[in-house]
Parts: sequence; structure tokens; C-alpha cells
Amino acid sequence: MSLEPSADPAADRRANYDYRSDDVDRPALVADLEAVVDCEVRGDSYSRQLYATDASAYELTPIAVAFPESTADVAGILEYCEAREIPVLPRGGGTSLAGQTVNRAVVLDFTRHMDGIREIDPEGRTATVRPGTILGTLNEALEPHDLKFAPDPAWGDKSAIGGAIGNNSTGAHSLQYGKTDAYIEGVEAVLADGTVTRFGESTREEIGERADPDGDLEARIYAEVQRILEEDADRIADTYPDLKRNVSGYNLDRLVAEARGDELPGGEDTGEPGTVNLARLLAGSEGTLAIITEATVSLEPVPETKAVSLLCYRDLHEAMEDVEPILAHDPAAVEVLDDVLLDLARDTAEFGPVTETLPEETNAVLLVEFYAADADHGKAQVAGLLADRVPSATPAGEPADDAPRSDTETPALAALEAYDAPERAKLWKLRKSGLPILLSRTTDAKHISFIEDTAIPPAKLPEFVERFEAILEAHDTYASFYAHAGPGVLHVRPLVNTKTEIGLEQLHGIADDVTDLVVELGGSVSGEHGDGRARTQWNRKRYGDDLWETFQDLKTAFDPDWILNPGQVVFREAEPTDLRENLRFDPDYEFDAGFEPTLEWDTDNGMQGMVELCHGCGGCRGEQSTTGGVMCPTYRASHEEITATRGRANALRGAMSGDLDPDEAVSDEFVEEVMDLCIGCKGCAIDCPSEVDMAKLKAEVTHEYHERNGATLRDRLFANVATLSKWGSRLAPLSNVLPKLPGARTALEAVVGIDSDRPLPTFRAKTFRDWFHERGGARIDERNATRKAILYPDTYTNYSHPEAGKAAVRVLEAAGVHVAVPDDLGDTGRPAFSKGFLEKARETARENVTALAPRVADGWDVVVIEPSDAVMFQSDYLDLLGSDAAERLAGSTYGVCEYLDTFRLDEGIAFDERAATDDLVYHGHCHQQSVAKDHHAVGILRRAGYAVDPLDSGCCGMAGSFGYESEHASMSDAIAEILYEQVEDSPGGRVVAPGASCRTQLENRPDATEEPPTPIEVVADALE
Ligand SMILES: Cc1cc2nc3c(=O)[nH]c(=O)nc-3n(C[C@H](O)[C@H](O)[C@H](O)COP(=O)(O)OP(=O)(O)OC[C@H]3O[C@@H](n4cnc5c(N)ncnc54)[C@H](O)[C@@H]3O)c2cc1C
Ligand code: SF4
Ligand code: SF4
Repeated sequence: MSLEPSADPAADRRANYDYRSDDVDRPALVADLEAVVDCEVRGDSYSRQLYATDASAYELTPIAVAFPESTADVAGILEYCEAREIPVLPRGGGTSLAGQTVNRAVVLDFTRHMDGIREIDPEGRTATVRPGTILGTLNEALEPHDLKFAPDPAWGDKSAIGGAIGNNSTGAHSLQYGKTDAYIEGVEAVLADGTVTRFGESTREEIGERADPDGDLEARIYAEVQRILEEDADRIADTYPDLKRNVSGYNLDRLVAEARGDELPGGEDTGEPGTVNLARLLAGSEGTLAIITEATVSLEPVPETKAVSLLCYRDLHEAMEDVEPILAHDPAAVEVLDDVLLDLARDTAEFGPVTETLPEETNAVLLVEFYAADADHGKAQVAGLLADRVPSATPAGEPADDAPRSDTETPALAALEAYDAPERAKLWKLRKSGLPILLSRTTDAKHISFIEDTAIPPAKLPEFVERFEAILEAHDTYASFYAHAGPGVLHVRPLVNTKTEIGLEQLHGIADDVTDLVVELGGSVSGEHGDGRARTQWNRKRYGDDLWETFQDLKTAFDPDWILNPGQVVFREAEPTDLRENLRFDPDYEFDAGFEPTLEWDTDNGMQGMVELCHGCGGCRGEQSTTGGVMCPTYRASHEEITATRGRANALRGAMSGDLDPDEAVSDEFVEEVMDLCIGCKGCAIDCPSEVDMAKLKAEVTHEYHERNGATLRDRLFANVATLSKWGSRLAPLSNVLPKLPGARTALEAVVGIDSDRPLPTFRAKTFRDWFHERGGARIDERNATRKAILYPDTYTNYSHPEAGKAAVRVLEAAGVHVAVPDDLGDTGRPAFSKGFLEKARETARENVTALAPRVADGWDVVVIEPSDAVMFQSDYLDLLGSDAAERLAGSTYGVCEYLDTFRLDEGIAFDERAATDDLVYHGHCHQQSVAKDHHAVGILRRAGYAVDPLDSGCCGMAGSFGYESEHASMSDAIAEILYEQVEDSPGGRVVAPGASCRTQLENRPDATEEPPTPIEVVADALE
């Protein structure tokens, strides 16, 4: 289950941050609004900057941001704003791709407080939820009932139900389930004037009874609906595209089809004529008609099992030819991947092995998934498909006698099949693999979304793709094609540089031409992501003048002063929406970091490239239980936008591009509120689709801050923890007793700011190095060794936990490795790096590289026990030095388990199975995860004979010194609680963790009985 932190970390009296800036714009408005509601309203510059963007290419600073806690709050805000014609914008996860959550308005963030499930009715298969409830969280709660909210937008673990209704969202399985509108049973909604009402199923008679063109707002809405059904129904039925997926314009085709009892495109039965569900009219309305404060949605059973096949084609056109015949087999999903994305996947270690099994001439694939009653049924469906489309294949099952056969020739070359969950997941992952690479461009030209989700009748896909490619060529750019071929929705993100006038021309020209093509072929400008700022302008062309007027009339009926998210879906002629306006990057955009960066940024197009890299997708807002991975622990603990990687990236870009004050990025306030709370876990460097490296940006900003303002005593102490540890060891046991004297910790907290409740590390008088020398050094002679390794004596292992070092020596020697523990190496510089003392870290790095380079050249490997130190050598030294020697050292450095696993050294070790009796729970280290090296320990532990449950856990929250800092202690605790809950839920018993900080944090777990050992100690325990 997802974890709600028990308290807001910023509410700790010692916390020096409150998620806001002191600089408040329109304080009178904020005060007025706060007087009419019970919730928080923010008008400060940081909050407004944070809500100025979504996942689209647009940016517009809002008027204020409110965090409603109740329907009454929403009603209060609307009543106030309508009276003064102040625009209002409801917002969920802010993951929209077309700019519909970007407006000059009072933004209402529903995800902060108005989330949660009110009721699940398993028999009636419905759930009633508040609008800020994340779809992934709802589905998690439905799991025990074998039910799910069926529409599955790819970002469902970050999207709220209010946003899914606002966009009429759907996903890869829309062939099976359609869009969100089909699942809305009823809503509670607040109208533009603050009236609270309910929409649901109504008969035409009921609508007639409630309709009054001269009545109150609600009566006027019913009157307009009645008018549309009476006067515009034929035009709507004739003009709307005959598509399963169309989310542009208002959802009027469903309204008319329900009233008439007509079948919807794709075959959905709308029931008896004469009844309509007005709640469904809000689907796809993008917050422009009313604000939803509660929704009852219907649910679907989770399918028993699934079966997947991957069909290979010579090119995209041949794949498109095959879509229609494939649809005759009734698949749940048909997804396409073109040559650009396949090539990107081919280059990755993860997917190379899969793509190698495809015929060499494969340049496009279709992934076809079936839902099945059982395994045999799944195999039979795939067999039916392959018998028809890939006759040369020898499928695992037998096709059913009535499996469809097409009379068209098949261009498919071959097919893969996948039936068990991991194999299916691998093929799905391949389908989704290329997009992150597309999105990680740090150049000014980016693959942006503006015509990225057109929908076309599947039979016309071949012609559409050919002509689309010609349009791109005519506008001198290119794109790749991927996604939902089955329902005719292709994702296409052309490469455009909107910082140039030429880029703006391309943007407009391509969108205009593609709209013409779509209209000609009977398609839609949006089959998935909605109108927003990118596509509203084309609705008139798509639907014609008369229906455009109907849209305007409907909008006026719901929202007489056009205060609800104005300019989206439809606009007033006096205030047209133009896709070239309010872009995040336009020709007027200027960037000035305000200082010279000190790290290497060459591979990122300069630091500017990294600061501008976040595309706002909201991927860093996923919960641990639904999204997994590391990113972003501080958001998971606080649920505050400013603590997500996106929040930090938006604030930093705002500060460096003039949206905030010049020099803001290195002000006290900015460092405290925005940068300090980044715990430097590096989760974003691997989990973010664009690989935004916030830890590196934080190091730069903190460094510059120190340069200008000096550093605190505490920062300097933590940066010099290696020296402190050396003295701690020399003075042990006295050094361990001193902090325990009465009043010592209180004084330490008062003077230095070190949390008095946090146990401090203890020091050993005899260091790991001492032990190694006393035993006479290496016991495996270099000449007889399998390999030779420098076992780096990291600070923690050397002075505080020599057991891990001793265990590593035992295991390495058992594997025949010649081990050396040198005296001439300092610490890695990790503490200085994390605290932003980059010159000191660079100096340390240089010394270590100088000392190690000749040994690396002489064939020595460098093996490190503490993960954050290993990653320092493997990754951060490249940022500090960027030299060939640093690169060679990086290539020769291994975490201790990585070393054993990479060279399969454990195969030469005799393990005693009787010793490996513990069932282990493994918590990895976030830094090791950031360089994709965290899996090695699990493999080694298993081969040593242990049962291991590897947690999909993030950062422990200690993060070096972060958890010791009194103003950050409650944030650290809140992050730790997420990990504690995972440990409690694990079927494993004894916890193991490679990181020193993590082990300290895990020792503080309420029912912990020991400081968890490192994996290498447990491996050593299993030696014969
Ligand atoms: C990487 C990525 C993949 C995506 N994949 C898909 C996909 O597969 N399918 C898909 O459909 N979409 C997809 N999207 C788009 C987006 O994630 C979905 O449309 C999502 O459902 C929006 O949810 P949200 O909570 O982020 O809504 P937001 O973006 O916050 O809001 C969406 C709209 O709903 C309105 N709204 C929000 N709350 C309310 C409310 N309480 N009352 C009335 N209106 C409200 C907003 O004003 C806005 O117009 C994707 C986006 C990204 C970044
Ligand atoms: S930081 Fe990454 S995951 Fe978060 S919004 Fe930006 S691009 Fe998406
Ligand atoms: S480094 Fe960690 S805490 Fe900082 S933004 Fe990235 S994921 Fe979040």
C-alpha cells in the first residue's frame, strides 16, 4: 500500500523550509481567498513558478495556487473568482502533454489533499473517489477484489482521476476498454459560480424538466444540452470522426449516441435510447466546463492471463498494412515501434539480446497482446494470429477452428511469442524503451509534443504515415512513429527548436498540414492527450464553423464568464489560442546561470542543457508502491511539488532564465527551500526518462553558494568526515563515550545543528587497514591469483566497520584474488562533493587518480565496499576531472559484489549451504542503482545459497549527512518510513544492505534487532 507520511516534514519546528518563497505576489488576493476557504492558498513566486508548466512545451505563470481540502473550498474559490472574473484551473498530476494545465489562473491542485477512495463496491463493480486520487493507487486498492479501473494511460501511476476525466484518458488497451468516459457513472461537480451539483444518468424528460434558458446556471446548462440534442444532433453525428479514440473537442458524439441509443465507434453499446449521462460530457472537457470534486466510476475484472506476440516487418509501411487484418483477431492491444526506436533499443545492453533474435531486415515491429481465460486460450489466440499473419511461424499453441483468416498478403517476416509474465514484460519494455532516449536530448532542438497523438481509421494508416513523413520532410525535420497502431493513434514527436523563428514556423506549418491530412482522412487531431494549447486552434477546422459555435455555446452555458481554464478546447474570437504562444522555450528565451559551472558538462550540452532537460512529465511524482525505483524520495515523503525533481528543475530553470529574480538560484532562501532538500540520491539520473541529474546540479549550485556566502561549520565538518573519523579512531574508545555524556548531544544540536536523536557512528581503535597489515597482507600470491584487486579502504569500513573489509578479504581470497589494501589513498571526496565543496572534492579525486592510475595500467582492479564511494570513482570523478585517467579508473572500479558477479569469481568459491539459512531482505543503495549496478549483490547472495527478497526500494533517507541535520531529520524520517514499511511487508527475515547510511537508518527501524550486515559479510558467513 502507498504510504501517507504521518506528518508534514516541514511542520517540524526545526525545519528551515516551508515549500514557499517569502516573495508573495498579490497578497490581498491570497488573503481574500484564504478568508473564504479553509485551505492553503499560495501566491509566492516559487509556487507560481512550480505550477507554470506541465508535461507540454508550454509555460505560463499562474495567478496563485490553492490546495483545496473539500468541496466547500472549491465552491468558495469559484464563487469568489467568478464574481471578479478571475480564471480558475483544476489540476491533477499535471502530466498533460498539450498544455491544458498551464494558464494564467488560480490553480487548484487536487492531489495534495483531495485524494482518497470513499467507497469500493465490489459487487456493483464501482468505486467512488476524490478527484486527486492517483489511478495507480486506486488500482492498488482494487487488487484484492480482482478489479481495476480499466483505462490505462501510460502515466496512470502519476495521473489523478480528475485529470483522467478532464482529458478522457485511455491507454494501450483502448481496443478492449475504450476511454475513461465509458466508466464514469456520476460526478459531484462545482459549477463556475460555486454551485455544487451532481451529474449522472438523466432521461430526456428529466433534462427537459430541469431546463430553463432564463433560470439559474444549472437550469441554463440543461437548456443548452436539450437544445444541442434537438438542433445539433445530426450535425454532430455526421461530423465527428468514426473513431474509437477521439478526444478533441467536447464529448458531444457520446451525448448524441446515448440519447439515440446508437452504437459508438468501436462497437460500444449505449443502451436504451432516451437516456444520457451528463457526467460523461465532462470527459475531455479539460477543466473548462465544471470542476469535479468526486467521481463514481465503474470497474472491470482483471483478466485471468495474457499472451503477447511481436511481429517483425521490413518497414513501418508494411507494419501499417498489417494492422487491419490483425484487428480481426480481437486483440487487446496492437502497438508499433519504428526503425528509429528499434535502433535505439538495439544499442542498449538490456534490449540488444531481444533485438538480436529478430530477422536482420526488421525495421518495424507490432506488439500484439491478447487477454485470455487461461494459458491454453492465450496460446490458441496467438497461434490463430500467426497462422494468419506469419504462416512460416511454428507457434506454441493450436489455433481455434474459427480463428479469422484474411485474404490479404502478409508482409510479416517472423514473430516472437511470450506467455509468462517476465517474458511479456520484456517485450512491453522493448516497446517503451526508445522514448526516454528521445526525450533525453539536451540540445535546443527537442522532440516536442504538438501533433503527437493524431488518430486515424486503422485502414488508412499506411497512407497516413506516408503522407505524414512527406509533411515532416517538407518542413525539414524528422520524427519516429510509435504507440497505439490498433486504434490508429500514432505518437509522433518531430524534432523542433522553438527557440528560433524557424522552429516556430515549423511548429505551425507541420500542425496545420497534419490537421488538413487528418481531416481529409476522417481522423482526429487528438486521439489521446487532448486539445490544450497545442490543438485547440485546429478544432474549428476539424469540426466546422457550426459545431465550433456549438462548442462556444456549451462553454457559455456552463461558464458564462469563461473563467474555467479559458482558451482550451474552444476560445472566444477576441482571445484566440495560438500554439506558438506561451511556449516554455521561444525566441525571446534567455538563459544566464549567473556563474561559471565547475563540473564537466560537455556531454550535456553545458549545464544549461541539463537545467532545461526536464520536460515536465511528472515521472518523479510516482509513489514507491506503484512506481518503484528511487525517484523521487522527497516527493514521496512530502507530496509537495517543490520536493519533486520536476519542482526543483522548474524552479532552477525559472531562476536561471529570468522568471525569478536574477541571482535567485544562489540566494539563502532558494538553497534552503529548493536545493537543500534534494538528498542527492541520484534516483533521477536513472529513473527520469530524460535522465535529469539533479544531484549534480545541486552540487554546482551549493558550490557557488559556498563561494559567495561561505559555508557553515556543520557543512565543513561533514565534508571532512574522513579526518574526523581518523581522529575518532585514534581517540577511541573515548571518542565513542564523549557524545553519550549528559547534555553533549543537546549542545551538539544547538551549536552545530546535528540532530540529537540520531545515533552517531562509533569508531574502532584498530582500523581495517591495521588488521590487514597485522595479518601479513595478502594471502594469495600475486603469481597464482585469478585477478589482483586493490580493496579500497573507504572511510566507514576502515574506521567504523572493519568487519565488512575483513569479510571482503575472506571472500575475495576464497575466489583466488590477490588483495592489496594500500596506505596512500585518501577518502574518495564523496562527502565534500555532496556538500558542494567541489574544489576540495576535485583535489581529492586528482590525488586518488594519480595514485591509482599506474596500478590500473598495471592490471589492478579497484574494488570498493561502500557503494557511494564506488560510484564516486565510477561516475562522479568523470564530472570532476573529465580526464582519460579518470575514465580508465572508472572502467576498472567495481563494487565488491559487482566484482564477484562480473567476473563470476564466486563460481570458484566453495559455499556451505548449511550456513546460508537466513531468508534475506535486500535493500540496495540508491547511488549504485543510479549506475545500474545494484543487481549484482542479489545474484551473489543467491548463489551463496540464500533466499533473497530484493526490495524495489529507493533512498533510505539518511543520504550521507542529510539525516543528521536537525532541520532535515523529519524529512529523513518520513523517507525512512517508506522503506520500513517495505521491509515489514517483505516475506524475508534478516535485512542486508550495502550502504553505511542505509544500515544506520535501518537499525533505527522500530522492530530492528541489529544493524543490518553488508551483503559481503553474509556471503563470507556462507564460506565453507
Ligand atoms: C509520459 C506520458 C505518457 C502519457 N501517456 C498517456 C496515455 O497513454 N494515455 C493518455 O490518455 N494520456 C497519456 N498521457 C497524458 C496524461 O498523463 C493523461 O491524460 C492523464 O490522465 C492526465 O492526468 P493528470 O492527473 O496529470 O491530469 P492533469 O494534467 O493535471 O489535468 C488534465 C486535465 O484535466 C483537468 N482536470 C484536472 N482535475 C480536474 C477536476 N477535478 N475537475 C475537472 N477537470 C480537471 C485539467 O484542468 C486538465 O485540463 C501521458 C503523459 C505523459 C507525460
Ligand atoms: S524530472 Fe524527469 S521525471 Fe520529473 S518531470 Fe522532469 S523529465 Fe519527468
Ligand atoms: S537526486 Fe534524489 S532527491 Fe534529488 S531530485 Fe533526484 S531523485 Fe529527488
